[in-house]
Parts: sequence; C-alpha cells; structure tokens
Amino acid sequence: MSVTVDLHSHTTASDGRLSPSELIHLFGKRGLKTVAITDHDTTNGLGEALKVKRAYPDMTLIPGVELSADSKDTEMHLLGYFLNYENDSFQKTLSKFREGRIGRAITMVKKLSELGVKLKWERVLEFAGDGAVGRPHIARAMIEMGYVASMSEAFDKYLGRGAPVYAERDKFSPLDAIELIHSVNGLAVLAHPSWVDNLESQLPSLVEAGLAGMEVHYSSYSSGLIMELESLANKFSLVPCGGSDYHANNDPGEALPGDQGPPQESVDRLREIAMERISTH
Ligand code: AMP
Ligand code: ZN
Ligand code: FE
Ligand code: FE
Repeated sequence: MSVTVDLHSHTTASDGRLSPSELIHLFGKRGLKTVAITDHDTTNGLGEALKVKRAYPDMTLIPGVELSADSKDTEMHLLGYFLNYENDSFQKTLSKFREGRIGRAITMVKKLSELGVKLKWERVLEFAGDGAVGRPHIARAMIEMGYVASMSEAFDKYLGRGAPVYAERDKFSPLDAIELIHSVNGLAVLAHPSWVDNLESQLPSLVEAGLAGMEVHYSSYSSGLIMELESLANKFSLVPCGGSDYHANNDPGEALPGDQGPPQESVDRLREIAMERISTH
C-alpha cells in the first residue's frame, strides 16, 4: 500500500456494509491520513465518523457526499467535499432524493417479481437499515435468496442501466448537483469519469459551472487509463482526485481503502481552491 489519501467511500448510511465507525477504524489500520466519506444522497454517517476519528489524531476526515445526475443519456456522479452539511435546505434537498429512492426501489422489486424473482420488500429494507436505499440492497436480497451469485451478476442481468428491471428515479442535472454542492460552500468533483459518455465534450460546461476536480486515481483504473485521465484533468485545470469507492461488498477483487488514491498534493490544491472561493465571496 502506497497511498495515504482516499476521497471516495461509502458506509451503512447509504449502500456500504461497514458502519461509519468500522470504516474509520479500517482507514486507521490501513494508514490513511486524509479520507472522505461520500455516501449517496446523505451525510448521516458523518456525525458518528467524526466522533470516532478523534481516536486518530493524524487523520483528517473531509465531509462529503455523492450525488447522481443525468444529462442527455449519460449518468454522472458528482462528489461534494468540505460541505457545510448541516445546512437545513441542503438536508431537505437530500432527503427528497432519498425518498425518491424508496419509490424507485419498490418499482424494481415489483418488476423483479413479474420476472419470477420473488423478494420480500421488508428484507430489502432490512438490508438498507437506516441508510439511503439503493440497488445494492436489492442485489443483496437477490443473492440471499439464491437468484444470483454476486452483486455484479445482479446488475448485469437485472438491475443495471439498460437491464430489464432498471427504473429511473428523480435525479439532478449535473449543473444542479454542482450548484447544490456550492450552496453549502463545497467543492464539486466528477466521480469515475470513465463511465461518462462523451466525457471530453461534457467537461467544458461542468468546468464553467465551477467543477474543481475529477477522479483520476480511482480504485479499478489501470495505469494507462490513469495517465489518460490525468492529461485530461490537466487540460481542464481540474485537480486529479480519486479513491477506493469502498463499499465492503466483499466481491472478489474489490479494492480496499488505500489500494489506489491521489497524492496529498491534490488535497492541498482542493483546500487552496476552497479557501480562495470563500475569500472572494
Ligand atoms: P443506486 O444508487 O441505486 O443507483 O445504485 C448505484 C450503486 O450501485 C453504485 O454506487 C454502486 O455501488 C452499485 N453498482 C452500480 N453498478 C454496479 C455493478 N455493475 N456491479 C456492482 N455494483 C454496482
Ligand atoms: Zn454505492
Ligand atoms: Fe458512483
Ligand atoms: Fe461511490
């Protein structure tokens, strides 16, 4: 393990399997120094994480979130960092998106049932616990019932975009997601950009809206892809970010926190941008 920065991770507050405390202890064990928790549509894991983090005086925890956005046929995920996340109107917006997740999950469970995949809705909710419900929770119920053997099989055969039971939910436009992050003095970073169709043509409008960085050092990326994305990030003056996107799925080959991540210099650059923006407001 060579990196000390991980800016992308999930807990039981959304679809990760480790509680915020367990994740912080894992970060500590793996020698990470700067970490961000970026749950989908929620910051509810941050309170517990910040408390537990006190046991690691050398560790910095950046409060984050991951938002899903849709633009012309492509989905993109935006990470928000350094958020003043306790803001009421920010929390109201997030909770509206979490509610949308419930309706959409019910639709998907119904569609599965029509295909003979019978799940108990209560069981899906149990997997989600207090967290924002997502497709991984449905996938876990499918695995438990023996309908599929792995998370990736559940997505490939049923739940993925374009697969038979995929259902849309309300999503932001990318520019609205960036605006929401800015509304609480956060910095927006494009997550796993290799999933974005026509990436290079999408970037100018995002940069114009104030996008600060883009993931380059992402868990599953090869060194060739990292080099390609690094030069794209340079071209658009975006800070090269990244991390594990750890969910503790325990799928074979799942990257662990610290396996891949950006250099400390990227965190320093993000902080400089955040300070600059606050001072010019
Ligand atoms: P949702 O938030 O319900 O749209 O689900 C998105 C989450 O599902 C992502 O953050 C990943 O954790 C997970 N996911 C998406 N695609 C796959 C896949 N092909 N295999 C496993 N997990 C996936
Ligand atoms: Zn996730
Ligand atoms: Fe994502
Ligand atoms: Fe993620």
